[in-house]
Amino acid sequence: RTVYLNGAWLPEAEAKISVFDRGFLFADAIYEVTGVIDGKLIDYDAHAARLKRSLQALGIPMPVDDGTLLDLHRQIAQRNGITEGLIYLQVSRGAQDRDFLFPDPLEPTFVMFTQAKRILDNPKWNKGISLKTVAEGRWSRRQIKTVQLLYSSFEKMEAHREGYDDVLFVENGHVTEASSANFHIISREGRLITRDLSNALLHGITRGSILDLARRAGLETEERSFTVAEAKAAAEAFITSATSFLIPVVSLDGTNIGDGTVGPVGRRLLDLYIKDRRENGLP
Ligand code: PLP
Repeated sequence: RTVYLNGAWLPEAEAKISVFDRGFLFADAIYEVTGVIDGKLIDYDAHAARLKRSLQALGIPMPVDDGTLLDLHRQIAQRNGITEGLIYLQVSRGAQDRDFLFPDPLEPTFVMFTQAKRILDNPKWNKGISLKTVAEGRWSRRQIKTVQLLYSSFEKMEAHREGYDDVLFVENGHVTEASSANFHIISREGRLITRDLSNALLHGITRGSILDLARRAGLETEERSFTVAEAKAAAEAFITSATSFLIPVVSLDGTNIGDGTVGPVGRRLLDLYIKDRRENGLP
């Protein structure tokens, strides 16, 4: 694979970063993941906008201008022959002698790579997944897409060992999100309920797109926090993210959601999303 690193295209084995990089020493870095289907970028503009918000929140300068950023996405997909998969990008504050303080503006480290992945053929779409609730243990600025993913990774790993597919973070009895996806429920009355945007969760791009499609399809939606009990009593539940789109959640802590199979509303929203993105991806 070809990797992009600070202005250069390199074979992956030759792409090297300083051991003094603050991304490595302090997780002082942000990232983005954009899906590719049919050789087209999915929800590109929204991902580029969130990238800027994350950088701004941490005071890291944008490493390239808007036109270059889009061009790099297109080029890296083309160079690596990615027609279906994902483009990962990461920007760290850069390298300096190890110090908690970073008084000087540093030269950011900007990396991009690709992963081939079968996005449109996901067995979990038909089977659904099981989640285990765990205490929210991440920092309190979760709207910034930082690479501080250790807690999420550890908890997901533990849940896997216990036979669950993923975790659902819970704070003060209320659901925040899954380890790397937003969580939504369909109430018994058929309303789509999803947590409102705040610093408590990542402002998922797919979350926004699905909400938008749901409203256009005439579904009633509510953006508010909800409890684990409410989620367990829901008719349906699902998670959303850039490279899995919408995955039904069929059980929570061993309790079936609805009848424990993939529900019709989630399936319909997934089909709408696939159709819309196939038609409107950015070539
Ligand atoms: N929440 C978290 C914590 C995530 O890491 C992600 C994606 O990686 C999401 C939600 C979903 O966001 P998006 O739809 O932008 O991929």
